[in-house]
Amino acid sequence: MFQCFELLSQSGDLMMIKKVNNTLIIKIDPKKPDGEELKLAAEMIRRGELVAFPTETVYGLGADGLNPVAVRKIFKAKGRPQDNPLILHIAEVKVLDMIADNIQDKALKIMSAFWPGPLTLIFNKKPSVPDEVTAGLSTVAVRMPSHPVAVKLIKAAGIPIAAPSANLSGRPSPTTAEHVVRDLSGKIAVIIDGGSTEVGLESTVLDITCDPPTILRPGGVTYEELIDVVGDVRIDPALENEENFVPKSPGQKYTHYSPKASVVVVEGPMKQQVNQILKLIKLKADSGLKPGVLATDQTKEFYNGVDVISLGDRDMPYTISARLFSALREMDDRDVDVILAEGIEEKGIGLAVMNRLRKAAGYNIIKV
Ligand code: AMP
Ligand code: MG
Repeated sequence: MFQCFELLSQSGDLMMIKKVNNTLIIKIDPKKPDGEELKLAAEMIRRGELVAFPTETVYGLGADGLNPVAVRKIFKAKGRPQDNPLILHIAEVKVLDMIADNIQDKALKIMSAFWPGPLTLIFNKKPSVPDEVTAGLSTVAVRMPSHPVAVKLIKAAGIPIAAPSANLSGRPSPTTAEHVVRDLSGKIAVIIDGGSTEVGLESTVLDITCDPPTILRPGGVTYEELIDVVGDVRIDPALENEENFVPKSPGQKYTHYSPKASVVVVEGPMKQQVNQILKLIKLKADSGLKPGVLATDQTKEFYNGVDVISLGDRDMPYTISARLFSALREMDDRDVDVILAEGIEEKGIGLAVMNRLRKAAGYNIIKV
């Protein structure tokens, strides 16, 4: 950490905006990600420090992905279980040769369609990838993000960057630098503030070591988009009934995305959802709890006298994914005891939204 301050003080025109609990918060405009600040952050990565940075999905917590000591720091800072492997982030396809083995034609086709973007691919790994990254698996997860700050950071660092979401393990993933500050200031060297993320939830994880390719985690690239390019795509059966199955993607088995409040998801036709939530509001309030509602633009006006956040428009599910995690955190800021959330249709990015929401609820689901 000391070296970091030394570096900063040597540089004249830095825009270091603040320091919170010994973590440097550096603001970088995604439209101009070329300054000295970014080079410094890259240097911190090369020196084995942790740097949180924006991607188009959520904020990532980055470390040198080929340095086991640096990678271990990620697990410590987040409190992440050791058996939950990390995604390596690259900025150029040629770097893939360094970390992935047996890259097939179908992989090239998928990469050219979706990279850079919110799609993580599972490859057989090369020995250069430390076991700390893959949690001892013979495969490695790789993604090429499109966010200009992420791209420049990875290129400037000149190495694949291992980066899980930059939240404390179990908490909702961060979609602003402020979320990262709250979870990780004092535990990591640098947080790059590049504004709000666009997609708002994590990448799709697609296993291409099997046939047909299998979605292990729904995310920013939709099942429908993948089908268009790949033809046959399977959804890991473990996702259909996650409560009871052991998923192939180790991270899927852990408690995830949880605010401090408990969450109940109400699924079914819109009108019945509203009626059920109105009943639950009364029930919870009668037992002395403070309810809050995660509604949609179509329903928000039905809930009076309680904390209501509209996640967005049901007809534009990308507006809902973009706000889901920050809304969960905001309900905690409002000291809500129980969050009553409306489910949405599992089409397009709605599949990923419902995966995250059900997990946030610990599968506490009411079907109406
Ligand atoms: P996060 O970094 O928090 O977005 O989580 C990364 C996700 O990718 C977790 O769900 C991991 O289980 C999954 N993942 C990483 N590497 C692999 C791998 N080699 N095989 C299967 N899933 C993986
Ligand atoms: Mg995560």
